[in-house]
Amino acid sequence: MEIVHYPHPALRWKSSDVTRIDASLRETVGQMFELMYEAQGIGLAANQVALPLRLFIMNPTGDPNESESEFVFINPEITSRKGSVLGEEGCLSLPELYAEVRRADEITVEAYDLDGQGFELKIDDLPSRVIQHESDHLDGVLFIDRISESAEKELAPKVGEFETRFRQLQAAGEIPDDNRLRDELEAQVAALTQG
Ligand code: ZN
Repeated sequence: MEIVHYPHPALRWKSSDVTRIDASLRETVGQMFELMYEAQGIGLAANQVALPLRLFIMNPTGDPNESESEFVFINPEITSRKGSVLGEEGCLSLPELYAEVRRADEITVEAYDLDGQGFELKIDDLPSRVIQHESDHLDGVLFIDRISESAEKELAPKVGEFETRFRQLQAAGEIPDDNRLRDELEAQVAALTQG
């Protein structure tokens, strides 16, 4: 498992609901936490490890020793959004790129945890921003889709560099081409949502 970078097709994938919470999923989530901490992130969606499932993890402290701040959101739904606030965001799939993004201030989110228990959180500040950013990932939406026109112009060269690097790796055969990557995602959806 590894974190995929823009413009990997998994990042534009509308993910499928998780239908089974089992040992294999718990193992996957454990690996995602390891990758997130290694990359010094505070949130990671399954799309970002090329897994087409509606699932993301979060630890707003970014500190692996603060495991009580770890959250797993399975099949999350943001059921209410209040207010509006501007704040800086980055993304582990677009490393070292940052921009201001307008998000709802306070949200209510419903999801399932790794024991299959449903929960509801009413939350603001940083965790609210992380949850909105990660929920977007599950729909194939990136934070660069939500920035101002002027920020978009400013970031365009850097975004272009990601694109160039990714295509070079594909040309060199180090990453499969987009059609193959999409086929792999389809195959995973079929395998994961069976039974
Ligand atoms: Zn992200």
